[in-house]
Parts: sequence; C-alpha cells; structure tokens
Amino acid sequence: MGAAGVAGKVSEQKMEESLNLFTSTQVVIKEALNKLGYADEMYELLKEPLRMLTVRIPIRMDDGSTKIFTGYRSQHNDAVGPTKGGVRFHPEVNEDEVKALSMWMSLKCGIVDLPYGGGKGGIICDPRSMSMGELERLSRGYVRAISQIVGPTKDIPAPDVYTNSQIMAWMMDEYSRLREYDSPGFITGKPLVLGGSQGREKATAQGVVICIEEAAKKRGISIEGARVAVQGFGNAGSFLAKFMHDAGAKVVAISDAYGALYDPNGLDIDYLLDRRDSFGTVTTLFDNTLTNEELLELDCDILVPAAVSNQITAANAHDIKASIIVEAANGPTTLEATKILSDRGILLVPDVLASSGGVTVSYFEWVQNNQGYYWTEDEVTEKLEKVLVQAFDNVYQTSQQRKVNMRLAAYMVGARKMSEASRFRGWV
Ligand code: GLU
Repeated sequence: MGAAGVAGKVSEQKMEESLNLFTSTQVVIKEALNKLGYADEMYELLKEPLRMLTVRIPIRMDDGSTKIFTGYRSQHNDAVGPTKGGVRFHPEVNEDEVKALSMWMSLKCGIVDLPYGGGKGGIICDPRSMSMGELERLSRGYVRAISQIVGPTKDIPAPDVYTNSQIMAWMMDEYSRLREYDSPGFITGKPLVLGGSQGREKATAQGVVICIEEAAKKRGISIEGARVAVQGFGNAGSFLAKFMHDAGAKVVAISDAYGALYDPNGLDIDYLLDRRDSFGTVTTLFDNTLTNEELLELDCDILVPAAVSNQITAANAHDIKASIIVEAANGPTTLEATKILSDRGILLVPDVLASSGGVTVSYFEWVQNNQGYYWTEDEVTEKLEKVLVQAFDNVYQTSQQRKVNMRLAAYMVGARKMSEASRFRGWV
C-alpha cells in the first residue's frame, strides 16, 4: 500500500477513538486537579498541549515517485523541563492521538519524578510496506521538519510503536549534521555504540514486571505459578512474557494482531519468541487460535493488555476474571470500564504508571549522554527498580488515602509536579 493511500485511510472509527482518548484524558486530569485543590486556570493550562506542530514531509520512494507524509510533534507542558516522548510510525496516527499521548507522557514523567514534561510525535505511514531506504529518508525528513522545536534541552524524542534503535540512530545522525556537532542527547533509545543505555530495550517490560510484582504483593498472590495472560507480543508484550515465564509464572496466553494462543498449562514462551517475526507476529503459524477479545476474558490471575487502546470497555469489563490488571499498553481500558473494574475490586495498575519504565531508562540514557559516563546493566536495573517501586507506592498510597481508583490516583501523582512548576513560573 502506498504511503499517500495510507495517509488518506485513517479510519473514522480510529479518529473517533482517538478523540475519546483525548477527551477522557481531559476528564481525569480535571478530576485530579480538583482533588489536588487547583483552580480552573490550572486545568485550562493543562487540558491541551502548549505546542503542536504538523509537518508535511516529501520523500522520494524507491520507484522514483514522491510521496508526501504527514507528521506531528506535540509538546504538552515544559514547566518542569524539556519535553520527552516517543515517535510512532503507524497508518492510523492522528492529531488527537498524538495530543493525548503527549499528555500521558507528562503524567508518566510526573509519576516517576523525572525532570521532564511530556511530548509525543508520529508519522502517518505503514513501515511494514516500506524499504529500509524509504524509512531512513522518512526518519531524516521528519527530523529536518521538526528541528526548530526539538533538541537535548528542548524536546527529546524516543522509540514508540513501530520505531526502533535504527530509526533513532538515523534521527540522531540527521540532527547532529544539522547542528554540526555530535548530539547524542537529542534522542534516546539509540543503539549502544551511539550512546544508547544498557537495558533500554527491555525497560518498558521490566517496569511492567515491577508493577506486577508490587500489585501481586498487595493481593497476596505469588508470582510462582500465577496464571498470566498477555495481550500483544510486541516489544513490551514479548519481553514481559519472557520475564514472567522466567520468574516461574505460567503465561497461559499471548496474542498478536491476528489472534491469541492459549494453553492452561502455560505456553512455551522461548519457542514462541524464537518463531516471532520482527513485527511480533507469531499466531499465524498455529491453528486453534482464540480471538484477542476471548483472551481478555480467560480464567487467569493477572491480565496484561500490552497491545492497543480501547480493549476493556463497558461491554466486557464484567466478564474479566483476573484479579489484577496491569496496563502495559497505552489506554487499553475505557473510563466506564475503569469504574466497573474498581467497583468489582479488581486491582488495576494504570498505563501511565505501568508503562513508565521506558521513559525512566530513556532519562538514564540522556543523563549518561550528558555526563559522557556509562553505567552497567545492573546499575540501570537497580536504579529502575528503585524508581518504579517508589512510584507504585506513591500511587497506591494516594489511592488508599484519598479513596480513589488507581487511575485517578496516578493522575493526581502525575499532575502535581507540573502544576507546581507552572505555578512557581508564574504561568497560572
Ligand atoms: N514511547 C515510550 C513511552 O510512551 C518511551 C518514551 C521515551 O522513552 O521517551 O513511554
């Protein structure tokens, strides 16, 4: 499928879903700020990104034609420090989604207490149908298009859906060429030889695992033998399934975009990892697959949605059997479903907390780039563990003390620092 064709195909359903994600984020931010005692002006400041840039990027395709791609970069709030967040390459990227994702990055950075605000970028494209050369030209073109508003002390991109360390390397090289000096701190998620950090690739999954462990302690569930269902087998889902498997849990189900695999005795995760392609597809190799919807309702102890948004809704929240849900994906549960699950006593660890391990190690990468001194993998893991355990505890305590669900508690913890910083700067 050609890129221009893809650009025109962002479905109406997807546009509506993104708008819903954006407006429901606003609803929870408003509630959180109310609970924290801020006046309406603070909500007016935080309800939209401070800056949203739309760019059009002409790219020469391999067949000699030129395609014009649309890209975005959203910067939610930079009161605390430079904005930070990934760039996704996906056919269904759209403005509302990028805006909502940048607001979530602000919350994540607040929850794990990083000196950043939130940012996010995206390009409407289908990387699965593009050559390496086309992807390189697109990555470089995007950096040229947004170069005025990004930089190591302004806004620091990173990987996200369908972008990886190779794409980060091209982007870093393009930025360094534009500035005429080497700028490793411009972007994180780089290959190790270009200033990447040990442990960055598996950091999101490690963060999720730490949240699972903390949540399991609260519920008195032992990881050894716990039945875990993971929706999604991409970067987060696959590493996470492996970590849980190695920790002695029974990973009873995994899935990709095409279906789900289920074995009540536990799947052979090492074998599945071996057979998985670079986009995380593995279920197409098997018969007897379940659907992604069926996976959510399986009998298990811990459910980890690690794929796409809007999976747990008012329609299926009553049928979830897990007692712990840890959101590794962004926005897998709607607000109605959040309420149903928390009324049912299910412990839900929200996305803005559970998926903050990635940006935490991105911050470590940026610190290492700034000081030019690099840490071992053990040092990174130890620091990540400390940050995430503390963040989980803050959110859990807030939820207990203020008698609010974990999502609202996470938003309260996440919004506090940027609100304070905005107030001290005299913006509100
Ligand atoms: N894209 C990831 C996220 O959504 C990582 C962002 C980063 O490392 O800056 O958290």
